[in-house]
Amino acid sequence: QVPLKPGRSLMDWIRLTKSGKDLTGLKGRLIEVTEDELSKHNKKEDCWICIRGFVYNVTPYMEYHPGGEDELMKAAGTDGTDLFDQVHRWVNYESMLKECLVGRMAVKPIAAPKALKAFAYVIFFLQQIPEDEIVVYCFYLCLCSRFCKICSVSIMPEVSTVDIFYDWFQTDSLVTIVIYTKQKDMNAELVIVDCQDKRLRGEIIMNDHSYLVEVDLDHAVSEDVAVNIAEKVGKVEIILSKKDNIHWKMLGQPSEGHNTFIKRTDRGLFYRKCQLVSKTEVTHDTKLFCLMLPKGTHLRVPTGQHVYLKQIIAGTEVVKPYTPVLPFLPLDFQEPPCHDGVRIYLMIKIYSHGLFTQALDHLQIGDYIFVSNPEGNFKKSQVQTSEDLVLLAGGTGFTPMVKLLNFALTEVSCLRTVKLIFFNKTEDDILWRNQLEQLALKDERFEVQFILSQPTKDWVGKQGKISSSLLSELVKRSRRDSKVLICICGPAPFTEQGVQYLKDLGYSQEEIHAFTA
Ligand code: FAD
Ligand code: NAD
Repeated sequence: QVPLKPGRSLMDWIRLTKSGKDLTGLKGRLIEVTEDELSKHNKKEDCWICIRGFVYNVTPYMEYHPGGEDELMKAAGTDGTDLFDQVHRWVNYESMLKECLVGRMAVKPIAAPKALKAFAYVIFFLQQIPEDEIVVYCFYLCLCSRFCKICSVSIMPEVSTVDIFYDWFQTDSLVTIVIYTKQKDMNAELVIVDCQDKRLRGEIIMNDHSYLVEVDLDHAVSEDVAVNIAEKVGKVEIILSKKDNIHWKMLGQPSEGHNTFIKRTDRGLFYRKCQLVSKTEVTHDTKLFCLMLPKGTHLRVPTGQHVYLKQIIAGTEVVKPYTPVLPFLPLDFQEPPCHDGVRIYLMIKIYSHGLFTQALDHLQIGDYIFVSNPEGNFKKSQVQTSEDLVLLAGGTGFTPMVKLLNFALTEVSCLRTVKLIFFNKTEDDILWRNQLEQLALKDERFEVQFILSQPTKDWVGKQGKISSSLLSELVKRSRRDSKVLICICGPAPFTEQGVQYLKDLGYSQEEIHAFTA
């Protein structure tokens, strides 16, 4: 992120795109762009970039890009899809850049029909040949699909072959879809189901890949969806209740992505509409938003992962990441914590000039907002093998620490110490201070330390910003060779500096986890 000049915020960009100004220089015409033509537009004052086959003139957007002009220039005159996916796959560029659309990339004229023809021949032959010769022809098929990829004709997604499949059966009142994943540690967090208006979407997360069942169901079903998981064998059942007791001839019409097993990053983000059910104050500028998932949705956000919220602001889709928390910290050990999977809690700071958070703050109870599937690369196993856990949080960088604290203190028996070092500007900014202090009193493994960067003169605690000396004083192993995990989250410079100081102090890459986008 770079500081933007005044008048260059996202809202200013949205205003410019609505002004009717010709942002492509083509007076509204759309053209077919050859690779040669694209490569000529590689300067700041004349910069075209191709994303997923569409070409945009990003020159007018340069000064508005939160990542800076230099980042954008890395893709100048080329296909920037991979770069874009690495940095911000979730940013809705189609909506943000729609006024900058120059046109489509031209498909290479000779290669494409040839490739398609060859592909059709192979399919034809495969149907005619005996089974024992099929391997040889499959080889040709592979070659052929590679060829099609090179000449940018999309015939089918890059599907990995694994032994995962689905089946379905019915009774008078129920339809059950069974997915056989063979993944031994299958659990509720890895199964995301959405069933609304006759459309069923079931996604199974398997490491960095996902398997999808997605159909327009043959007949209507009720909103009650049950998900059963046989964890040891990796069998997942999605049970739907028929609205009418009639016999279904088929499960339904498959969508394009149905029955595919592909990289998660190759799947578009899926959103469902959630209702705002409550909004409570946490501090003077931070609120706890409670969103209700739709009835036909089964979604659990794993510890350490975030979701994307999407709102339409001034006619443009705007997306921002937020990390779900719990409604409160694990203070009551009599009752096992009940996190019902029906609601999502988000602790969000409202910035006075913030585009997204201002719109969020204006939502009324009962209004709807779009919530995506979870993402993030934190793995619980990192905690499960540690003896000391240190959490470094700056401001709302506290949010991933909430579920992490709950998990560590209620489910990880090998942890000897858990320490939260919480950096804020003033005392009034400290989130859930009371709960944190109570938790420290209840659980002797847990300790919390508040550090203020702009304290009043009455503050007797520690002060300052993250520094090498502070960290060397406060981050310690409980024994000389104990296994430690240090998690860090906050404003980007806080996280970057923190990671560097920790490395300088001798902590290894594996001992540090930084939460970023
Ligand atoms: P913008 O319109 O982007 O910014 C407008 C102005 O607001 C800025 O000029 C500045 O004055 C002020 N501002 C905005 N962001 C900051 C900042 N970080 N520091 C100081 N001033 C700022 N936020 C939460 O509140 N809760 C979360 O759980 C949460 N989870 C996140 C998870 C991830 C993975 C990431 C990357 C970010 C997360 N954020 C979270 C931040 C969130 O995504 C937005 O960046 C934030 O809400 C500001 O959005 P905005 O559109 O309102 O502000
Ligand atoms: P803030 O401005 O209130 O700052 C909190 C503390 O962070 C400060 O007291 C200071 O100690 C430290 N800090 C702030 N700026 C610093 C800098 N430039 N260098 C060193 N230390 C600095 O924080 P906020 O407004 O609550 O912002 C929280 C940030 O955390 C946001 O940028 C948000 O995007 C990020 N966040 C990230 C995730 C994630 O998973 N990646 C989750 C939640 C929040």
